[in-house]
Amino acid sequence: MTSNWFKESCLDIDSDFQQTISHVLLQKGLVQSKCQTTAMRFIIEVIVFWTLVQGIGACANVKIVSRSAWGAAAPKSVSNLRLPVSLVFIHHTETPACQTLVSCKTRVQSIQRDHMVSKGWNDIGYSFLVAGDGTIYEGRGWNRVGAHTEGYNQRGIAFSFIGSYSGSKPPTAALTAVKKMIQCGISLKKVASRYRLYGHRDVNPTSCPGNALYREIKTWPHYSRTKP
Ligand SMILES: [Zn+2]
Repeated sequence: MTSNWFKESCLDIDSDFQQTISHVLLQKGLVQSKCQTTAMRFIIEVIVFWTLVQGIGACANVKIVSRSAWGAAAPKSVSNLRLPVSLVFIHHTETPACQTLVSCKTRVQSIQRDHMVSKGWNDIGYSFLVAGDGTIYEGRGWNRVGAHTEGYNQRGIAFSFIGSYSGSKPPTAALTAVKKMIQCGISLKKVASRYRLYGHRDVNPTSCPGNALYREIKTWPHYSRTKP
């Protein structure tokens, strides 16, 4: 069965795409025959398919509310990150928490106003914000330099839990959502697979992200005790 399939596949190099690949591989001496080309093409297709499945899988279970969906104001200016970033920072917003789309839209809009008007920043500071129900709100997103962690904004992205988490940690749905987002970021090549995770207080003089949340993230896989 296998040998028949292989024999037929070897004879079946007829599309332009296959012909081109076959020609290039033969020329570069990577293969000696069209049969080997077919085998190699099959392996490449399996790898591409698997990578796609992994990518879709990692991002499939995160619910992201886009900037336009929460009514973001336009940024005053934008600069792009060099991707993938190797640092991930965890914050809390130190505002009241929120659980629903309606209340979280208002909350995220008010955080953006505070950052842009009171603090004079170009946009909402964080890369992403996470609500108590595990919904993610897009801040600056994966690609743009944020204003979240002084001295490290060019090298990292930040997830901020909406609420204050000194006394108790965020709901499980929110914690799970951020873990999934980091995996999603890795599959999208926005975050390095060997990233290092920090709490805001690890690098700046602040109590952020609150004692309870800080204790929690110190148990997460990529938490690093070495300064970035
Ligand atoms: Zn912070």
